[in-house]
Amino acid sequence: MVKEPARILVVGGGYVGLYTALRLQRKLKSELRSGRAEIVVVTPEPYMTYQPFLPEAAAGSISPRHVVVPLRRVLDRCKIVIGEAQSIDHAKRVASVTTLATEDEGSDPMELTYDELVLAPGSISRTLPVPGLADHGIGFKTVEEAIGLRNHVIEQMDIASSTRDPALRDAALTFVFVGGGYAGVEALGELEDMARYASRYYHNLKPEDMKWILVEASDRILPEVGAEMGRYTVRELRGRNIDVRLETRLDTCEDRVAVLDDGSRFPTRTLVWTAGVKPHPILAATDLPKDERGRLKCTATLTVDGTTHAWAAGDAAAVPDVTADEPGKECAPNAQHAVRQATVLGDNIVASLRKQPLKEYAHRYAGSVASLGLHKGVAHVYGRKLKGYPAWFMHRVYHLSRVPTFNRKARVLAEWTLSGLFKREIVSLGSLEHPRAEFELAAGGGRPKESS
Ligand SMILES: Cc1cc2nc3c(=O)[nH]c(=O)nc-3n(C[C@H](O)[C@H](O)[C@H](O)COP(=O)(O)OP(=O)(O)OC[C@H]3O[C@@H](n4cnc5c(N)ncnc54)[C@H](O)[C@@H]3O)c2cc1C
Repeated sequence: MVKEPARILVVGGGYVGLYTALRLQRKLKSELRSGRAEIVVVTPEPYMTYQPFLPEAAAGSISPRHVVVPLRRVLDRCKIVIGEAQSIDHAKRVASVTTLATEDEGSDPMELTYDELVLAPGSISRTLPVPGLADHGIGFKTVEEAIGLRNHVIEQMDIASSTRDPALRDAALTFVFVGGGYAGVEALGELEDMARYASRYYHNLKPEDMKWILVEASDRILPEVGAEMGRYTVRELRGRNIDVRLETRLDTCEDRVAVLDDGSRFPTRTLVWTAGVKPHPILAATDLPKDERGRLKCTATLTVDGTTHAWAAGDAAAVPDVTADEPGKECAPNAQHAVRQATVLGDNIVASLRKQPLKEYAHRYAGSVASLGLHKGVAHVYGRKLKGYPAWFMHRVYHLSRVPTFNRKARVLAEWTLSGLFKREIVSLGSLEHPRAEFELAAGGGRPKESS
């Protein structure tokens, strides 16, 4: 009888999925070649998104194709299935997966059996029941959202420049961001900087005409860089005329009016929601143990607690922080942990297949760097605090060293170098979102109505 290969199923093609599969395909070379092992990666997109570059992609400093890593090329010894796990029955070692084909055919999800499971679907935006949010808000977690937002901001400037209606102009030039973590602060910082620059090419728009508002429920922003650098960031943003409102919440945003709990009202066509993340809902459709926040309960060796052959890391996993001074602390959801956990996870799966002892994950948070626009930044890394240009430069060097593959590094560096020599890109390619519009018009179907 021919022995079936040991199948390792990796759910998710983000930080953890990519780096775990990469480690496994390196360490299991001979098993993969001889057919004794198989790695299957299930992911909705054929690429991994390097999320820390999304704000720069929104600003036009990096093109969208260079913010993502093609999984088929990098994971050339793995099987890539473009699809979504809908549920997992770990007791039976089977995942139910929908693919583009099952959707197209209208057939049942396919059943994928496995021997080892790596569950890394990451997180999704944590929303609140704010009236109007689902209709008018946009998140900032994907490359589609980042580029869509860039196009949208430039489109609003075009609308403001051509309308005679002062109320429409005012709403088009008001940009509200909710949530002061690095996603919100960096997205706002980069987009405001880009819009300020772009305004010089409009005959009737000045930077002072635009209102950029950051709404944060707590009394500080950017907790990732510490209290002192967080205060500096508030001063820096306010110095650029950005209205930073601490200890303030968004109450409603119906009819495109953002109403804050301090009583202020802002008619706006742009509401960006970056107020935290929550574990991906697929976790609820598994028989694996979760903590009170819905993340997978994990051990320091990255096994799912109380189970065998199930592993997890990254935003979806509650991993004990063994370096913390107080007991019971868990690793924060960030890329710094996700990448390092993935390496340990890959090694531990190999060790467990070879009946060797497992390693514990231990990494003390090193701090963070954030970009606040071109040549502006803030950093607090290994105890060193930097602001302005040095922090921005450090941000670029750090992320260039971190973005996966030499190919991406070279392309990003080439783009930065070229953009240093030429003027910034200020074009909106919003029409890419409606590629058939021109042909429909030619064919007599009329121009489709804009949704926003
Ligand atoms: C704008 C932004 C900037 C950031 N900047 C920083 C930074 O500077 N430093 C830092 O440390 N961290 C940063 N982060 C956080 C960091 O990106 C995340 O912590 C990290 O991506 C978590 O890795 P992960 O593998 O758990 O999840 P992800 O990288 O999100 O990967 C999850 C993957 O699972 C896939 N998936 C989801 N559902 C399914 C399903 N049902 N079936 C199959 N696949 C599925 C998703 O499509 C995705 O590919 C930033 C995040 C954002 C949004």
